[in-house]
Amino acid sequence: MYAHPFSYHRAQSLGEATKLLHQRGEESRVIAGGQSLIPLMKMRLARPTALIDINFIPGLSEIKGRDGEIRFGALARHSDIEASEHAAAIPILHDCAAGIADVQVRNQGTIGGSLAEADPSGDWAATLLTLEASVICAGAQGERSVKLEEFFKDAYTTVLQREELLREIVVKKPAKNSGGAFVAFKRSAPVYATASAAVQLTLDAKDTCKDVRIVLGCVGLTAIRAKQAEAELYSKKIDERSIARAADGAREAAEPQSDMRGSAEYKRALVGALVKRAIGIAVRRARGEHVEAGHEYVGR
Ligand SMILES: Cc1cc2nc3c(=O)[nH]c(=O)nc-3n(C[C@H](O)[C@H](O)[C@H](O)COP(=O)(O)OP(=O)(O)OC[C@H]3O[C@@H](n4cnc5c(N)ncnc54)[C@H](O)[C@@H]3O)c2cc1C
Repeated sequence: MYAHPFSYHRAQSLGEATKLLHQRGEESRVIAGGQSLIPLMKMRLARPTALIDINFIPGLSEIKGRDGEIRFGALARHSDIEASEHAAAIPILHDCAAGIADVQVRNQGTIGGSLAEADPSGDWAATLLTLEASVICAGAQGERSVKLEEFFKDAYTTVLQREELLREIVVKKPAKNSGGAFVAFKRSAPVYATASAAVQLTLDAKDTCKDVRIVLGCVGLTAIRAKQAEAELYSKKIDERSIARAADGAREAAEPQSDMRGSAEYKRALVGALVKRAIGIAVRRARGEHVEAGHEYVGR
């Protein structure tokens, strides 16, 4: 199907983009990688009358590490992040970026577009919620910083105002002896995951867990922080029993719905297994081991 007719505008600055959004009215939309918006337009599930292209705004794709933080420009592509030195240093970022869809989608899709889209099945939300992340939003009134946990309001809904743009994603570098893992289970590369689990934790010198975040993806309207699961590990030595209890906590926190990817019961069981696996990998990485992880496919 062809998209509904629209006009196309190339913004040269964030200021120009917000101005164009204002001038072109309610039905105008920003386009970044187009990997969510264009398919929706082709199915006529989205009918913007004007597209404001932000791809030509200088500096918006940069990834910079400084003062204990990593700053991702909203236009940083999944593949740029996958190849970045920061993803090598913080493996959970690599797990996520390297497994999103296929190489074509990863070369076009952006981290900013993914967060702004707020698709409940998107991988970045769960991953970044385990790190201390915030986003910088830019609009006609200036800029504001929003903690990522306050950014998502509902499925496909964020706190971004209509004429506001996501400019940057800021992630604090994890402390020493930290490790994380993002594990997603999907039927094949070009589809979204059936369920996913992101875990980031820090161990002290005695191997006790002194910080932990566990976030579940694809099993709720937004990514879900599994606080009971975290409590099962926090301030404790991580062993098989505490991991099993954390997995139970994650299963309880999940709010899955049955759909073509599986029944609610199946997804609940799956998320428990993924959390177990992600904790195991996170612990090994926190101890300095190199472990491969990421998206896993049916039958692999
Ligand atoms: C076949 C296929 C499989 C996929 N599988 C996965 C997957 O497994 N996991 C996953 O996480 N994702 C997946 N995706 C989605 C992909 O990650 C997209 O890149 C992402 O969802 C949107 O990023 P984008 O840059 O393409 O945004 P666009 O499609 O350009 O925009 C998406 C929405 O965000 C808005 N927007 C974009 N940038 C900004 C900004 N800077 N500020 C404010 N609003 C903005 C747009 O107006 C639009 O409403 C898949 C996509 C396809 C086509």
